[in-house]
Amino acid sequence: MSDGAPLRITDVTITPVAFRDPALLNSVGVHEPFALRSIVQIHTDAGLTGLGETYADELHLERLAAVGHEIVGLDAFATEELHQRVQRVIDRVGGSGGSGLTGMITTSSTVDRVVSPFEVALLDIQGKAIGRPVSDLLGGAVRSAVPFSAYLFYKWAAHPGQEPDEWGEALDPDAIVAQARRMVDDYGFTAIKLKGGVRPPEEEIEAIRALRRAFPDHPLRLDPNAVWTTETSVKAGRALEGVLEYLEDPTPGIDGMAAVAREVPMPLATNMCVVAFDELAPRWPSTPSRSSSPTTTTGAGCAVPSCSPASATPSAWACPCTRTRTWASAWPR
Ligand SMILES: [Mg+2]
Repeated sequence: MSDGAPLRITDVTITPVAFRDPALLNSVGVHEPFALRSIVQIHTDAGLTGLGETYADELHLERLAAVGHEIVGLDAFATEELHQRVQRVIDRVGGSGGSGLTGMITTSSTVDRVVSPFEVALLDIQGKAIGRPVSDLLGGAVRSAVPFSAYLFYKWAAHPGQEPDEWGEALDPDAIVAQARRMVDDYGFTAIKLKGGVRPPEEEIEAIRALRRAFPDHPLRLDPNAVWTTETSVKAGRALEGVLEYLEDPTPGIDGMAAVAREVPMPLATNMCVVAFDELAPRWPSTPSRSSSPTTTTGAGCAVPSCSPASATPSAWACPCTRTRTWASAWPR
């Protein structure tokens, strides 16, 4: 594009997609049999098409469709106008409920979640129009590759009433090691993370130790999704000294994480603390510098039907159906 003329949106295609999700276990239940996503395609009068991707629950799809009609004719570079038009749509159709995996911790607004796939698609178009990667539009790439970690889950062989998947059951250390072996051999992962908070802590510690024996050089991470007490977290952290690269969200809350951080030898990581601006100011003076380091993970779903992202407020920042388990009977205090 060289003449500075607007690049007009002519059409928007929204395609819901359902793909199978194994019976993966986490602290609040099991993944549902299908994961729902939607693909947003924005078409322009120059023949360029941009791609975005987002949630696909029914309410979210209705909002996406409404926005799709609202932005026909918009210049593909007008992302601020996109935001304003999405705000108008949400004001008209409503913004409560929907958007996402049940039980996910969500601090973004409905407008943000609806804007996102369209904004990404417009950036895709802009990059194609000027012949530059989207990373250049956002300030430039700072690395050429990003390492991925194998992400192990305890799992059932199958969802109830369905045939076992090809990965089979994984409920003990040997099965977790076998799952890791297959992931490392097939995909070349150089680090391994286990989604914990499923089995009693001592079993998960044994699983990590088994992984260490099988993979002596792979960094290991454990994420119980804030389901342990601080006492259990400290005991587990100390038991895994020299074994874990980091322990992720062992216990709920900034204060709880700070208490654990003071007592365990490894760094903590989190994607459940300090996820909203109103969590910053009151904590700033007392937040320990080593309590939280950023990490990026894909979220795990919650199988509790009554739990919705709308009820997970920034101040609560926890799925309301999440409960803290205390393993007092099986775990020496
Ligand atoms: Mg996590």
